[in-house]
Amino acid sequence: MYCRNCGKSINDKASYCPYCQTRVDIKMEEIIEKQNEMELKIEEVLVSQNNELKTNQSILVCAILSLVTVFIAFHEIIMIAGIVLGLISLIFALLTIKNKERLKYSTLIIAFSIAGILSNICWLIFTLWVL
Ligand SMILES: [Zn+2]
Repeated sequence: MYCRNCGKSINDKASYCPYCQTRVDIKMEEIIEKQNEMELKIEEVLVSQNNELKTNQSILVCAILSLVTVFIAFHEIIMIAGIVLGLISLIFALLTIKNKERLKYSTLIIAFSIAGILSNICWLIFTLWVL
């Protein structure tokens, strides 16, 4: 065979070209293929991490909204919306709590959600039965 680097004729069984020391036992196509595979995998990981982050952020926004409704809860519908938002974020946070890397995030969301749900329920009871 011929060395792909310097073009000189070399032994078919050689691992390295004796003239330029280029590795010749691995085909260039294989290397490119493996490189492409790795790039694809890296891309997949990046995309999934990005999606995960977006999901986390949406759930946190949901939990915070649930809490915020307490301060603008002048109507039963807003309170119910707050409870629903709190429940949604609570369920999502409980589903993701097994992931240790996201534990802090999940705990934060759970705290926000529970606070939001409880305050809204209190508001609702207060508005419906006391006023
Ligand atoms: Zn060579």
